[in-house]
Amino acid sequence: MTQTPVIDIHTHIFPDHGAAKIIAALEEEADCKAFTDGTRRGLLDSMQRSGIQVSVQIPVATRADQVESINSYALKVNDRKIMSFGALHPKYPHYQKEISRLKAGGIKGVKFHPEYQDFFPDDEAMFPVYAELAKARLIAFFHAGRDIAFDNVHGTPAHFSRLIKAFPSLKLVLAHMGGFQMWEEVREEVIGKDVYIDTSFSMDYMSSHAFLQLVERHDPDLILFGTDSPWQDQKQELARLRALITDETDLEKIISLNAGTLLNL
Ligand SMILES: [Zn+2]
Repeated sequence: MTQTPVIDIHTHIFPDHGAAKIIAALEEEADCKAFTDGTRRGLLDSMQRSGIQVSVQIPVATRADQVESINSYALKVNDRKIMSFGALHPKYPHYQKEISRLKAGGIKGVKFHPEYQDFFPDDEAMFPVYAELAKARLIAFFHAGRDIAFDNVHGTPAHFSRLIKAFPSLKLVLAHMGGFQMWEEVREEVIGKDVYIDTSFSMDYMSSHAFLQLVERHDPDLILFGTDSPWQDQKQELARLRALITDETDLEKIISLNAGTLLNL
């Protein structure tokens, strides 16, 4: 029997020399505990323990001047076990050049974070960037909903709903089931639309019943298993999903096939 690989679409790693410091700072800022040491090796160990064959690591550029170095690191470490996405920033001007550099290096997508990057996802100033991504067939991966480190929210389900409508050609992934801790608005604005959502950081923050309602109302081809490792434990998250989703066909789509299709594996 051939088994399709289990793919975690949402993880984070940091360069070895800085990982310990970055993890400590983020732990303090968000008042949470990391489940790996933040290194590539640490993520590989976690995958081994969890029965996960592929992880996608998605870096965030909190400042425009970090974009190029983050992408150089992504291009360096990108491989078949830990695939890297790149990063862009709304204030980074040379996005065309950077998108073609990522594309040429085999990178499949870029991450945006409306809170750390202080922008509304449906802001028309971003449309040329999205158009360039769509043209290159790169995925736009967004943090969606609240972020524990911020009081305000730019990436609300309503803003994403307008982006989905404005850019049907853009391959869009919304993390945290489409809007962390905004589950009511997610149900109204995101669920049922033509957009990928990932399961990361959601099961701990709503009832199993509420989680399954979102899953059942969304296209089963558009739900992706994600953990946000190191901020959640890959093994535990996979076990919870396996326990919650009883339909074997849907489960296989969510933990493996959908990401395989999206990433062209
Ligand atoms: Zn994340």
